[in-house]
Amino acid sequence: MKKITILVPVFNEASNLDKLILKLNRLIDGDLRSTNDGVDTEDQDWNFSLKDFSWEFLFVNDGSSDTTLNDLRRLRKENNRINIVNLSRNFGKESAMLAGLDYALGDAVIIMDADLQDPVDLIPQMIYWWLKGYDDVYGKRADRGKESWIRKRLSLAYYSILQHSTRIEVLPNVGDFRLLDRRVVEALKQLRETQRYTKGLFCWVGFPKKEIIFNRVDRNSGKSSFKLTSLINLAIEGITSFTTAPLRFATLLGFFVSLISLGYMIFILLKTLIFGDPVQGFPTLICALLFLGGVQLIALGIIGEYIGRIFNETKGRPVYIVESYNEQKA
Ligand code: UDP
Ligand code: MG
Repeated sequence: MKKITILVPVFNEASNLDKLILKLNRLIDGDLRSTNDGVDTEDQDWNFSLKDFSWEFLFVNDGSSDTTLNDLRRLRKENNRINIVNLSRNFGKESAMLAGLDYALGDAVIIMDADLQDPVDLIPQMIYWWLKGYDDVYGKRADRGKESWIRKRLSLAYYSILQHSTRIEVLPNVGDFRLLDRRVVEALKQLRETQRYTKGLFCWVGFPKKEIIFNRVDRNSGKSSFKLTSLINLAIEGITSFTTAPLRFATLLGFFVSLISLGYMIFILLKTLIFGDPVQGFPTLICALLFLGGVQLIALGIIGEYIGRIFNETKGRPVYIVESYNEQKA
């Protein structure tokens, strides 16, 4: 019997756990045909049932400060599908996902959020495509739900920059909600970088991919733990971990500015030679000075980003530390 792991990184999600597990159990133990409406499949040969698989619900507790861990342990007593990896502190969702991939037992792993923003009803469809031979079946959001206009614009602009500066295709509006075959999981486990941009890593490892469109709903309860600043950080992470294009940009900018300066230098020189030198041009001097200073700082900043990454990776620290697996101390 094939095993499927549902991997859920959780950080302060106590208010969502019961409902999530209830929904998952209902889906698996219920009748597949009832959740089969409106499903986009080439043909309707649903010759499998979710009961044909053995299931693991793997929760990675990412240093929650609420009752999440206790709730998980309580739920585990009633439900032997549940396994719990408890990290020693909050390492962030990206690291928690890697921990989950390391501990997952399934032949396929489905990654989803705890807040029910990723509809469980999509799971049969993912499995359908997996059985058809796709190794990475991912959900693509048809719309981005209740997000502000500016945030939507920014995120689209970001994807297009990322797209143009790297050969690896990073897909817009695709989150971490996806089914991965064991092959992909093994490939991802080899990528142990500490500053992770998992969304790009999925694309980096390749393998046949299949897209499913879905509507992302709003959080069931609680607040998103990603604020605008952490999204900006993630965005810089994404660019610096997949492309050195900004360094190239700094070089080009340098050339461009030098060229203009050279032109201006010749102009000033000639002007002085022909018309003499009535001491003037203090404003010009200041402008040039400030402009060049700015350009230099930008270039330094860009180099700094990369040096920072080198610094972090050379320390060779593990991506996460496990405090306990189920009830056992690690
Ligand atoms: N999460 C996590 N560690 C963190 C932040 C979030 O494991 O440091 C989990 C969180 O519990 C949820 C998922 O990552 O299951 C997505 O988080 P959230 O809903 O806050 O993000 P959003 O949906 O706004 O992208
Ligand atoms: Mg969410």
